[in-house]
Amino acid sequence: MTKLVEGDGRTHIQSRLMRESLQNRGVLAGTDSDHDLQIFPDVTLVGIGGQSIFDRGKDAILPLVDELAACKRDHQLVLAVGGGTRVRHTMSIALDLGLPVGGVAQLVGAMEELNAILLNALLAKHGTMPMQRDHFWDLPLYLASGITPIAISIPPYHFWEPPPEEGNLPMHGSDFGLFQMADVLGFKQVIFVKDERGLYDKDPKRHADATFIPRITLDELIARPLAENILDQELFHAWHASKNLQTVRIVNGLERGALTAALRGEDVGTTITRGGAA
Ligand code: ATP
Repeated sequence: MTKLVEGDGRTHIQSRLMRESLQNRGVLAGTDSDHDLQIFPDVTLVGIGGQSIFDRGKDAILPLVDELAACKRDHQLVLAVGGGTRVRHTMSIALDLGLPVGGVAQLVGAMEELNAILLNALLAKHGTMPMQRDHFWDLPLYLASGITPIAISIPPYHFWEPPPEEGNLPMHGSDFGLFQMADVLGFKQVIFVKDERGLYDKDPKRHADATFIPRITLDELIARPLAENILDQELFHAWHASKNLQTVRIVNGLERGALTAALRGEDVGTTITRGGAA
């Protein structure tokens, strides 16, 4: 039974955080654990790039839609979409107008919602539904009824987006948003679907001699950050501090069957693991 403790002029509820400042480092260290409750351990989050896939139009989208329709029969999936060129265009106007970073951050999820609706129009007959921004507790309802939800990738920081370390663009982009969703909800893995085979040592669109990296650890990416990366840097920072998500994969959505193979656990694209040998 809950015990109330008095005697210092206040009333406390007896617990290990009783009387403590939640900013105290010793107190914070005492709250650490090896891992959190894994809420959806069988779910794979599939993030579909806005610029890399959607902006290529139907030649890229339709074959991927067929693949997703087949995959959803065998796997518990949450789909998520990026915003693409319209995000970049809107951001550049906002920057020209001098909007603060929180103002820019407030704009970006809207374009992703449009891509979620586009994707849903194509997949609805196979059982999909756009998910309201952060209605994560609706997920069991979707999954139990065979509906694959389509979420947006941008985290809803809005005005609360902290000042970035560099420039005036929100640090918390779509790749970070997907990582965060998967880590908090204890998903099995995240698979990023982009327009390259996976991670290279530099951007293969700019460097013909870029070398493909099939497997790498988060620790290696933190120790030797790439100057050009296919995923947001903030994802790696947050993943380093987190304790739940173990695997992030990147596959080429322009290559038919790559996503299916990744979902089956086959060696395709790039696999990034938290630590140890990748
Ligand atoms: P969004 O969803 O935010 O619109 P996206 O998920 O489609 O974006 P991009 O931001 O376009 O993804 O990133 C994918 C691009 O990253 C690739 O097309 C590739 O040219 C580029 N890239 C940069 N560095 C690398 C790297 N080291 N390895 C592979 N690709 C890289």
